[in-house]
Amino acid sequence: MARYKRVLLKLSGESLMGQKQYGIDEARLAEYAAQIKEIHQMGVQVGIVIGGGNIFRGLSGSQKGFDRVKGDQMGMLATVINSLALSSALESVQVKTKVLTAIRMEPIGEFYTKWKAIEALENQEVAIFSAGTGNPFFTTDTGASLRGIEIEADIMLKGTRVDGIYTADPEKDPTATKFTEITYDEVFSRGLKVMDLTATAMCKENNLPILVFDMDTVGNLKKVIQGENIGTTVHN
Ligand code: UDP
Repeated sequence: MARYKRVLLKLSGESLMGQKQYGIDEARLAEYAAQIKEIHQMGVQVGIVIGGGNIFRGLSGSQKGFDRVKGDQMGMLATVINSLALSSALESVQVKTKVLTAIRMEPIGEFYTKWKAIEALENQEVAIFSAGTGNPFFTTDTGASLRGIEIEADIMLKGTRVDGIYTADPEKDPTATKFTEITYDEVFSRGLKVMDLTATAMCKENNLPILVFDMDTVGNLKKVIQGENIGTTVHN
């Protein structure tokens, strides 16, 4: 029934705001937890990376006078806050989780290793990888690429507000059309903003396909797992 055995789900922090201007929308959080529970019940091993843009982004912080490295560290801590929120929401619907952190901070989460992650996944726990890569000047997209490759996921599912990759920004250009699939090389040559370059290059070099889809429409995550043709797939 499930098309994939192990997936890396990337969620943006910004989506977690829902209707709010800042922080966490509990209704959106509950929707995400319910969608994740559905695919977990199908037997899919789920690793998750969630961004921190609803709380703090290092780059925008540095434009306001924050030191870039400190700003990025604040951003990484923001992803930990979101990871704990998601873990709590999943546990409240009886899904076991394990929060792993890229920076040591027990007892908030266990320090990440590939083997702890795989062990959690094989024990039917949803593994939540927080604090990005642990390094400044990276994004959670790169964190998601890295963790997806490390845990040998079949695919990275990038849940966004948009239902796929378009020839141009569909909110600005009404003639923009959606790709069903596209190669990494075409993403680069067309200058499409799927993820940042570092993240996209990592996926290309390590042959991890990405499926970009609209996660904010309830039920879509299950459709993706069932192999329904929604969103855009990026591959070599
Ligand atoms: N960040 C970082 N290193 C990482 C991952 C994230 O420094 O490996 C910081 C960076 O400042 C980033 C912030 O954490 O702006 C939040 O992550 P991101 O912007 O990727 O969140 P999203 O846009 O997905 O909500």
